[in-house]
Amino acid sequence: MKVLVVDDSVTMRRIIINSLKTAGFDDIVEAGNGLEGLSNMEGIELVLTDWNMPEMDGITFVKELRSNSLYADIPIVMITTEGAKTEVVEALKMGVNNYIVKPFDKETLIEKVKATIEA
Ligand SMILES: [Mg+2]
Repeated sequence: MKVLVVDDSVTMRRIIINSLKTAGFDDIVEAGNGLEGLSNMEGIELVLTDWNMPEMDGITFVKELRSNSLYADIPIVMITTEGAKTEVVEALKMGVNNYIVKPFDKETLIEKVKATIEA
């Protein structure tokens, strides 16, 4: 399964990618913001995206994906520090399938990713 990891923090991308690799995901593409993400969607089957990013934030990225028939049904997991209930509700309304609040541990990330793709 080809996975796209979008986060403006290189360190956070490394943490996410390493976690995914331990769970057997080995086809991983990364991007530093939503705009970069949009131009790297070729063949992507699962998206993990940060919320706060320059150029294009995660929620705008999600809106863009959901308004494109090619990506309307692609599983999206939002990884964010925005743990407040209103933000989470907004993300879910925009079509995010699942969310992970930072800081998270590897097991939580893997568990949520699996639950999302098996749903
Ligand atoms: Mg960020």
